[in-house]
Amino acid sequence: MKQEKSRGIVNKKARRRIVGFDIDGVLTDEMADGKNIWQREIEAYFPGIQLLEPDFAFTAAFGLSLEEVDKFMEEKAPEVFRKVKPQRGSREFIRYLQDAGFTVYFITARWPRYEEITREWLAHHGFRPSALWFTEDKGPLCKELGIEIFVDDYWENCLDIRAHGVRALLMSAPHNLGCPEEKGIYRVENWDEIRAHVLEYYGLSTWESGKISGTSAL
Ligand SMILES: [Mg+2]
Repeated sequence: MKQEKSRGIVNKKARRRIVGFDIDGVLTDEMADGKNIWQREIEAYFPGIQLLEPDFAFTAAFGLSLEEVDKFMEEKAPEVFRKVKPQRGSREFIRYLQDAGFTVYFITARWPRYEEITREWLAHHGFRPSALWFTEDKGPLCKELGIEIFVDDYWENCLDIRAHGVRALLMSAPHNLGCPEEKGIYRVENWDEIRAHVLEYYGLSTWESGKISGTSAL
């Protein structure tokens, strides 16, 4: 009975509370010692190669052929996926959300062949999503899953996500700095800004008060 009563006053946003996150460039901190971890690996793999311009695609960024990128990914991606570090504050905030009753999904465009490595990395760093998906078509999946806010660093994904009625947060990265902020797409620089945006969207109290009330994990 108590539940029935409280359910009546809970608004729509509070009932659902489903958020989603990309992995690479959002959960992962691609900057290591001042240089992007992929750039570092590509420069080591292709001696003499230089970054032409920041671009989401390695082909455009480094003037590589698709075959060269495929060969590089085949040999080096597993190592990068294993050693990359999570972004500061990511795990703590996701745990906070889950403790507060949110459903948290991760959607990555990594190839499904990297599922095992990805799951190991997530577990190793303390991430426990409700589900993990491997697809490039993030917009339709976000809609289908009922996700209300999704964070991604790829501009095209944000456009797709917004087109499906989902609020997109664009995590800043060198390859998206030229993309303008548009209605329904909000640029964030780090997990402090993700946290502030999500808390405000759901009308939640501050991060600190969440901690005091004991909803923060570890
Ligand atoms: Mg990404």
